[in-house]
Amino acid sequence: MDEDGGAERKFLADAALGRLARYLRMLGYDAAYLKDRDGAAALRETLKTGRTLLTRRRDLAARDDIEVFHVEDDDVLAQLAATARRFDLTFTADAMARCIECNERLRSVSKADVLEELPPHVRKTQEIFARCPSCGRIYWPGTHYARAVARLLGALRRSC
Ligand SMILES: [Zn+2]
Repeated sequence: MDEDGGAERKFLADAALGRLARYLRMLGYDAAYLKDRDGAAALRETLKTGRTLLTRRRDLAARDDIEVFHVEDDDVLAQLAATARRFDLTFTADAMARCIECNERLRSVSKADVLEELPPHVRKTQEIFARCPSCGRIYWPGTHYARAVARLLGALRRSC
């Protein structure tokens, strides 16, 4: 049913690419992040998990025993556009279904379950909520979400 299988690809972003990992999560991709300055842990994790490594390091990008993409741009939206072009990424059915901070899949919660934790304006205006099982952060489709989607769409259009 998933013709392109795009969302099945899992990424591992190395130390310089934390913001790129967050954007990939917004699109619905499983993008782990590893704070690893010397690259050894990133290489080990890539070999162990079979994730596609996203790195700015030439030495890692040159390896032929892992799937790796060398990210050359400094700007995160340019990085996203280059990654989207390379792997044919798009919004997936999982878009906005992951915690942007933790990469965990969000769980739907009822408004009643989170009511006490919501800012007053959100309590008044929003009805659909999800929570990250790891950090507890609550998500709802608000204006921040809409702006993020617009920026992502702009970046992806530039990648075509
Ligand atoms: Zn989280």
